[in-house]
Amino acid sequence: MLTPEKKNIEEHLQFLVGERNPFTKPEHLEKTRLYIAKQFETFGLSVTEDAVDYEGSRSFNIFGKGKNSGEKPFVLAAHYDTKPGTPGADDNASAVAALLEISRCLADQTFPVPLIFAAFTLEEYGFIGSHQFIKKAAAENMTFSGMISLEMLGYKVSTPHSQSYPAYVDAEKYPDSGDFIAVVGNEPSVNLVRSLANGMKKHVPSLKVETLVVPGTGENFTEVRLSDHSPFWDAGIPAVMVTDTAFFRNPHYHQPSDTVDTLDMDFIRENAEAVTETLKTLLHKKEAA
Ligand SMILES: [Zn+2]
Repeated sequence: MLTPEKKNIEEHLQFLVGERNPFTKPEHLEKTRLYIAKQFETFGLSVTEDAVDYEGSRSFNIFGKGKNSGEKPFVLAAHYDTKPGTPGADDNASAVAALLEISRCLADQTFPVPLIFAAFTLEEYGFIGSHQFIKKAAAENMTFSGMISLEMLGYKVSTPHSQSYPAYVDAEKYPDSGDFIAVVGNEPSVNLVRSLANGMKKHVPSLKVETLVVPGTGENFTEVRLSDHSPFWDAGIPAVMVTDTAFFRNPHYHQPSDTVDTLDMDFIRENAEAVTETLKTLLHKKEAA
């Protein structure tokens, strides 16, 4: 049985970390694209890419698919671009490394619900890549049983008062130190939030998992919309974000200091293992979400 390994995560990060931006560092964005596609291929997934044109730049969404066919696939995603001026180790190389390890472990599995691994571009410009994906799918009358966006999985700190919260969250009900992983959904995704969070806790008991569910499409909760799950919410598809909570914990968010030495490799590996094992059960139910 395959399980995510720390040495593979470290190896991926070594390659991935560095600015990945279509305007300021198109070379590394392109090299990253080739790297992700190559990894998917090596794991035996069939790879497709979709060009995303944006303000004179062209970059690509990358998809890896297993042998399962069927209606309403489930999407596991991470964005691979960065803001200008940041090496993007936590945001979002940590999640891309986890996505690659999860896809390596699940590539051979057969599920009644097909699983698509997606590496989205241009998240940092307002979910441009994932938005295009959803728009094209809608035009083809294709829909999805659910979606998980992996958004920053590598920053963990156990000191008191290291975790902050948006004003609409009752901080009293949550930990005061930033040593948990959060599963964030909207009301239509509540079943997915619960089954994913419970599965993650069960499979990796050392992992602390917190959940947050917001009403509607999160329109009054700006911060919880900050990843590629948002276009899925807007299309009425159950979707969750799995995150270390970004700037509510990590002072290096979008900074030149978002480097690999700030990451907790065991935390990334545990997150990857928890998602891998939970997906195995989740996707065997007919309606994944
Ligand atoms: Zn991000």
